[in-house]
Amino acid sequence: MKALIYHGPGQKAWENKAKPRILQPTDAIVRVTKTTLCGTDLAILRGGVATCLPGTTLGHEGVGIVEEIGDAVTAVKSGDAVIISCITSCGRCHYCHKGLYSNCVDGGWILGNTIDGTQAEYVRVPYADNGLHLIPDGMDDEAALMLSDIIPTGLEVGVMNGEVKFGDTVAILGAGPVGLAALLAAQFYSPAEIIVVDLDENRLEKAKALGATITINNQDGQAAAKVLELTDGKGVDVAIEVVGHPATCEVCQSIIGAGGHIADIGIYSKGVELHKEVLWTKNITIRLGTVNTTSIPLLLRTIQSGKLDPKQLITHHFSMNDIIHAYDVFSNAAEEQAIKLILVNDLDGTTPVAANGSAQESLIEQIVAQVMREMQ
Ligand SMILES: [Zn+2]
Ligand SMILES: [Zn+2]
Repeated sequence: MKALIYHGPGQKAWENKAKPRILQPTDAIVRVTKTTLCGTDLAILRGGVATCLPGTTLGHEGVGIVEEIGDAVTAVKSGDAVIISCITSCGRCHYCHKGLYSNCVDGGWILGNTIDGTQAEYVRVPYADNGLHLIPDGMDDEAALMLSDIIPTGLEVGVMNGEVKFGDTVAILGAGPVGLAALLAAQFYSPAEIIVVDLDENRLEKAKALGATITINNQDGQAAAKVLELTDGKGVDVAIEVVGHPATCEVCQSIIGAGGHIADIGIYSKGVELHKEVLWTKNITIRLGTVNTTSIPLLLRTIQSGKLDPKQLITHHFSMNDIIHAYDVFSNAAEEQAIKLILVNDLDGTTPVAANGSAQESLIEQIVAQVMREMQ
């Protein structure tokens, strides 16, 4: 099979690799039908994730069809359409019992990190009963794919850790895929204002379209002053940091109001300063974390009911064979106006992708498909 293999900082290749096989009775082999690229993959390629060794297949997000299951797997069977959670969990260890799947002693974020991931034709999913979620009949698989990582991350690590409430003023620092996912998830709780800060005007426009009430371009470095002015000096109730940079962390600390919550999603490669001398009287809470993906079942229900449309985050489609090109586009996200890129596994000819790299149905094709479904 083909796989996107990490060969050390700055080096990757789309090349042949042995198809994975069942190693434990709790494993499943999934034929990946669609996968996507994540900022974390770029962090690995920059050499920022020491646990990912050369030779590893990248990718931790995907949907697919179960090909084969181990003897102990009961929740899924071969032929099932599934979401692959980015987090592996045994379901039985000390941390899994607390719902902290990301801290599972035999799991956590290992796919596309310490074991081969989803940017391949096939992937081995350990503890398949916990790591795979059935895609309900009729659900769009690309909407489902957004639940592998980014929507649960925005919700759990941003919105829920930030305790966003009705009437709150929320600031989201960073309008990349996860920041925009947090923007969608924040609206479950009806905050009064959602201020989104970024450096990229296209992403800010997208944020506005997805529900931001105010957007601030921080090219002038004045975001903190502007947020304080907008809030009459009080600051915000919730600040969600999605960049992982000392500067955005600094902005969060400057704009957080008394009793507020800072929720940090960003990935840090070094320490940042914490201004306790200013913050100590403010009764604030700071939360850090990694997604546990415990919210996937509930998010599936919100998609089914029409309250969440994560497909709004998808901007590009490519054949898996064009994955190197897709990485180039994703690496130039600002110029390419890229948010989430879908890679379609059409390598066995079952999912045709147009030559221009777009598998998206035209509006007419969608209407025809809808009419055909209604006639059946
Ligand atoms: Zn991801
Ligand atoms: Zn565990």
